[in-house]
Amino acid sequence: MPDVFADLVGQDEAVATLRRAAAAAAAVLRRAADQPALALTPTGPAGGAADPGAGMTHAWIFTGPPGSGRSVAARAFAAALQCAYGTGCGECPGCHTTLTGTHADVRLVVPEGLSIGVNEMRALVLRAASTPSGGRWQVVVVEDADRLTEAAGNALLKAIEEPPPRTVFLLCAPSTHPDDISVTIRSRCRVVPLRQPPATAVAEVLVRRDGIAPDVAQWAAAAAQGHVGRARRLARDPEARKRRDAVLAVPRRLTGVGAAFDAASALIEAAEAEAEASVAEADASERAALETALGAGGTGRGAAGAIRGAAGQLKDLEKRQKSRATRAQRDALDRALVDLAGFYRDALTIALRAPVEPVHTDTAALAGAGAQKWDAEGALRRLEAVLRCRAAIEVNVKPRIAVEAMMLALWRG
Ligand SMILES: [Zn+2]
Repeated sequence: MPDVFADLVGQDEAVATLRRAAAAAAAVLRRAADQPALALTPTGPAGGAADPGAGMTHAWIFTGPPGSGRSVAARAFAAALQCAYGTGCGECPGCHTTLTGTHADVRLVVPEGLSIGVNEMRALVLRAASTPSGGRWQVVVVEDADRLTEAAGNALLKAIEEPPPRTVFLLCAPSTHPDDISVTIRSRCRVVPLRQPPATAVAEVLVRRDGIAPDVAQWAAAAAQGHVGRARRLARDPEARKRRDAVLAVPRRLTGVGAAFDAASALIEAAEAEAEASVAEADASERAALETALGAGGTGRGAAGAIRGAAGQLKDLEKRQKSRATRAQRDALDRALVDLAGFYRDALTIALRAPVEPVHTDTAALAGAGAQKWDAEGALRRLEAVLRCRAAIEVNVKPRIAVEAMMLALWRG
C-alpha cells in the first residue's frame, strides 16, 4: 500500500528510522492529550520518565548525494508527523496537504539563489514558534541548508538551541562536513544518511510511479547514476537526452587544442541555454506580477514615494533572478560534468576489467576504445580532470576557465 515514504527509493534503513520517530512523536501527542498539565517537547513531556518519544527529536539533518532524495525524505517525514491516522498513511488531509505544500503548519524553505538570507530565516523561525493550528507539530523544512548564509545559519541555530516546544526542524544538506553545515547546528541534530539508490530501485520507481517502459527506465536509471529526478527527466524529455548525447560526444571530438577550446565553449553555452530555458518562464511571470502589483496604485498622495519604492522592488527582483540564473547555470554544468565523469569511469572500469555495469550503456563501446588507447592510468587521469573541474567550480573558479583547463587535460591525457 502506498504511503508517504513510497517514493523514497532504496532507503530502507532511513525509512525505518523515520517511521519509528513518527510513531514516537504520535505517542508524545497522545500522552500530552492525556496529561495536558505537562510541558511538551518532541522528545516527550519535559522531565518525563520512561520517555515514549525516545525515537523522536526536534532537529534532523538529511544527508546524501544529489538526487538521493534528501528533500523527498524530509517532506515525507513532515507528512508522517502531520498524519492523522498513523505514521504517514499518504491519504489523510494531514499527509496530503503536507505533500502538496499547503499544510498550514509546514514551512518549506527552497532557496532559489545561491544562499538563503537572514531575513527570510528570521521570519521563518518566528512563524514556526507559534502554536500549530492543526494541533500536532510546526515543521520547518530547509532544503539545501548548505546554502544558508552565515547569518541565516546563526538565526536557525538559535531556534534549534532553544526550540519552541512543538517545532521540528528538518534540514537537508549534501553531508555533515563543516563546509555544508556548521558544527554547532550538526551537534544539535540527529543525522539521517541517505545512500545513492541502486539503479534497479530507481528503475522500479520510474516504472511504478511514472508509467515509464521498463527498458527505458533501466537505461535512464543507469545513465542518471542514482539521481532519481535526473533519471525521470532522461526517460521523459527528448531535449534532456539530446543534451546528454552532446556531452558524451565530447571525448571523441577532442582532436587538438582548438577542438578542446571549442568543446569548452560548447559545453558552457549548452549549460547557459539550458539554465535560461529553465528560469525564463518564472522570471517573466514574476516580473509581470510585480509590475501589476506596483501599477495598481500609481497616483495620488505618496505616489512619488511609491515610485521610488517600486524601482527598489524591481531591482531586488532582478537581483534575485540573476542569482537564481547563476545557480541554474552551475547546476546544468554540473550535470554535464557528472555525465562526462561517468564516461571516463566506464573507460576505467573496462580497462581494469572490473565486473560492474557501465554507467552509459550507449557509449560503452566508445569507452572501451578509450580504455584500449589510454590504459587504466590514462582513463583515471581523465576522470580526475573532470572531478577537478567540478571541485574548482564549487570553490568559485570561473566556469569557462575550469572547463577549458579540463578539456585540455582530457585531450592531452
Ligand atoms: Zn496520513
